[in-house]
Amino acid sequence: MTVERVLLAEPRGFCAGVEMAIKALTWMTRIFEPPVYCYHEIVHNEWVVRAFERVGVVFVDDIAQVPQGAPVMLSAHGSAPEVIAAAQERAAVVIDAVCPLVTKVHHEVKQLASKGYDIIYIGHHGHDEAVGTVAEAPEAITLVEPETGIDGFAPKDPTKVALVAQTTLGIYEWQHVYQTALQRFPELKTARKSDLCYATTNRQGAVEQLAQECDLVLVVGSHNSSNTQALVRVARERGARAERIDSAADIDPAWLEGVKVVGLTAGASAPDHLVQEVIDRLDPSMGFELRATTEEEEYFPLPRQLRAFVTTLQGLVEAGVTARKPAEPSLLERDREWTATEALDLISA
Ligand code: SF4
Repeated sequence: MTVERVLLAEPRGFCAGVEMAIKALTWMTRIFEPPVYCYHEIVHNEWVVRAFERVGVVFVDDIAQVPQGAPVMLSAHGSAPEVIAAAQERAAVVIDAVCPLVTKVHHEVKQLASKGYDIIYIGHHGHDEAVGTVAEAPEAITLVEPETGIDGFAPKDPTKVALVAQTTLGIYEWQHVYQTALQRFPELKTARKSDLCYATTNRQGAVEQLAQECDLVLVVGSHNSSNTQALVRVARERGARAERIDSAADIDPAWLEGVKVVGLTAGASAPDHLVQEVIDRLDPSMGFELRATTEEEEYFPLPRQLRAFVTTLQGLVEAGVTARKPAEPSLLERDREWTATEALDLISA
């Protein structure tokens, strides 16, 4: 390969919601005997899902597949109210690892529906997040794909229309639908900024800059990861050739013919070691450089139910015999410093 330089986007990879969800499922595998059940892939990344399967996590797409009394985690993408209710009825313990930014959109939908709005939801049919969000108010929501737009949308009252979006869309595709909706419905109600989350916006901003300096952009992430696919589209919109890869093994040498500078980023659910492996495979003669656009400090605590559960268990253990000195903070108390990468190392050891 003839690559001279790799430009590495920053931020890239794990967002705060994914960090929280991976750590939460790691706790579940440490607390319970396998199998632990997880409704939907905990995050949309092939490598992460396989790593959890190896330690006894069983991913299901139907709560009815969970045996009565088994522990269940609900994925980061957010679940429909009826799924949560069914899980609570079946499982001994239910921990919901939904990202708080998805929960925010669920609240918006419920509020708007209760006020009589017809809601345009821009999202991808069949994506776990879209399915969970639409289920909050199916009678009031019309799901529109960003590429299709709102042509077929006919509200009861054009003065009571709201627009809500999946958190992981491409910035431009969201804006396009938003502008069209605003023209048709001048009183359109929408979130103050957009529903696209900080991680989606920041990663796309970083790849957008990078794309202008590169012959080719590689995006590490799985095919069903919406924000990964959005990164590919944004890079292409900025004029770069862009390809999604699950890992270094997917790089087609033909893509690199005549390419001197490769841009590299990763979707919000892709582990960073996969990015490092891509750099190793490309083996750029002049090394790699970071292209940082913004710093991220977001942190989402573990789900409340899990913290309560772990605290109770710790109390029970410490009431018996414990090696931990009382003054020493527990792993739960140090959660902000403990990373999902360390959690994955732990289960992969
Ligand atoms: S991509 Fe955004 S909405 Fe999705 S888990 Fe990450 S922070 Fe939450």
